[in-house]
Amino acid sequence: MNLDLTKNDLSHVVEADKAHVWHHLVQHKQFETVDPKIIVEGKGLRVWDAAGREYIDAVSGAVWTVNVGYGRARIADAVRDQILRMNFFAGAMGTVPGALFAERLLEKMPGMSRVYYSNSGSEANEKAFKMVRQISARHYGGKKQKILYRDRDYHGTTIACLAGGGQDERNAQYGPFPEGFVRVPHCLEYRKQWDDVSGAAYGRRAADAIEEVILREGPDTVGALCLEPVTAGGGVIVPPEGYWPRVQEICRKYDILLHIDEVVCGLGRTGTWFGYQNWGVEPDFVTMAKGVASGYAAISCTVTTEKVFEMFKDDAEDPMSYFRDISTFGGCTAGPAAALENMAIIEEEGLLDNCLAMGERLMGNLAALKEKHAVVGDVRGKGLFCGAELVADRETKEPVAEADAKAVVAECMARGVIIGVTNRSLPGMNTTLCLSPALIATPQDIDAITAAIDGALTKVFG
Ligand code: PMP
Repeated sequence: MNLDLTKNDLSHVVEADKAHVWHHLVQHKQFETVDPKIIVEGKGLRVWDAAGREYIDAVSGAVWTVNVGYGRARIADAVRDQILRMNFFAGAMGTVPGALFAERLLEKMPGMSRVYYSNSGSEANEKAFKMVRQISARHYGGKKQKILYRDRDYHGTTIACLAGGGQDERNAQYGPFPEGFVRVPHCLEYRKQWDDVSGAAYGRRAADAIEEVILREGPDTVGALCLEPVTAGGGVIVPPEGYWPRVQEICRKYDILLHIDEVVCGLGRTGTWFGYQNWGVEPDFVTMAKGVASGYAAISCTVTTEKVFEMFKDDAEDPMSYFRDISTFGGCTAGPAAALENMAIIEEEGLLDNCLAMGERLMGNLAALKEKHAVVGDVRGKGLFCGAELVADRETKEPVAEADAKAVVAECMARGVIIGVTNRSLPGMNTTLCLSPALIATPQDIDAITAAIDGALTKVFG
């Protein structure tokens, strides 16, 4: 590690952080006895903390974001050049990287046509929700305004995104919520809801359950269905074959817009540009954020079909016809400038192919861990987006205690590997170790990650 900061500077940083930063998703009481970890530098798949310790980052910046890895000079150079020339312009006027990235992105998304820029996954999803509501208001007399979302999916942190989110723990304490969001069942076959079917038939059955909700609510009241292609924070849930074709059929049958939340899967995570492309889905909305610029700049996109876009142009004389929405920092050029380079890197370095090959290796290693450790109840994954569900008992599938799950993560950290764990305190849900290394991972990296998990599981569970 080659740091410009001295040891003194770094201990000051730790003290400043401790005194002033409110960290995400953490009980701060713990920082009375341990220091917060400050990540100081990253290169490729590796990061270094303030104490100079090196880690393999198996979750791409804690939340599956840094798809092309750390320390990419060409992204930094492109952003620098762009922001010196023109850093920001918002509203009705465009920017050079905004136009060029939209063009490049849509080349990878046949059937899609328009890109609406904002800054976070939550915001991208809110934009789509607002578009659905406006389509309902203008074209369906305000009737088709309900938005369906799935148990265990997550779409963001705003009040409306929480209303459309399937993880109850995140919602408790933040109500009241806006109306018109309706839940459909999840499709995690390991935790079966329909015992008489399996495989593709299970997928079709889980999709049929969506149709049942639509019929119960009244198809003419349902405007959209919002789903993650592979559920991320809800437990790395890969739907069985049979699920997506049936979902598509149902949406078409009832004239329901299909919104795919690609905030995690987008830009290569599952070995295709987008998760939905694994199943030949034809969405009406696609939202994306994390991997779009791999965290080098904040950018998110709400992408629509031309058909959706046209619905906002029906009456040029009517000032209520266009999308009455703006995101100030959707006018930052750093995002699309970084995103253009990010895409070029994925393409030029063949990272989709590497993702598939390394994903296969990772799944193989995880399957071996399942053979060895009774606590590993299920392993799931698509590309470099993998999970290992931990259960205290394979028969009852009772999740392991939260303290044990935390201990596994800490033991991996002690072995120099940063991993994640999902939903550990959600009652009735799953405790799943989460792995999403950068798409540049090598076989040695993959093996080092699973070796650390192996050691951690032995240490914690024997
Ligand atoms: N959708 C999904 C599937 C996510 O995983 C997340 C973030 N974890 C979001 C939306 C929200 O993104 P952000 O945190 O950028 O608002």
